[in-house]
Amino acid sequence: MLDKDCIFCKIIRGEIPAEKVYEDDDAIVFKDIEPKAAVHLLAVPKTHFALLSEAGKEGKTAIARMLEKIPDIALQNGCSEGYRLVINQGEAAGQTVRHLHVHILGGEKLGW
Ligand code: 5GP
Ligand code: ZN
Repeated sequence: MLDKDCIFCKIIRGEIPAEKVYEDDDAIVFKDIEPKAAVHLLAVPKTHFALLSEAGKEGKTAIARMLEKIPDIALQNGCSEGYRLVINQGEAAGQTVRHLHVHILGGEKLGW
């Protein structure tokens, strides 16, 4: 289920453009519009929910399948030396888009 007003649902539906690097039935991966590292991708399940705690059966399946694909996607997009995955959960953590997404950050030596 997608949400009519959600920006990531709009990208999934092709209503707004994104620099897509991967897509299958479960997920889409595209470049972050404001990259925080040399490589900054967003892996987004094709079902709308904001928090892991809100994932239904379909969402959980999509996340699991998406995570399996991430190592290959990272490797093919300039992260052969390593990468970081981040999932912001809630406003206090800095989540600004209320559609669950995994940040893939890499392409350089990352500070912590
Ligand atoms: P959050 O802060 O929710 O964890 O991450 C949301 C991310 O989505 C941010 O890094 C932001 O730059 C990115 N973002 C927001 N709107 C768009 C958009 O329209 N297109 C793309 N490609 N990225 C977006
Ligand atoms: Zn959405």
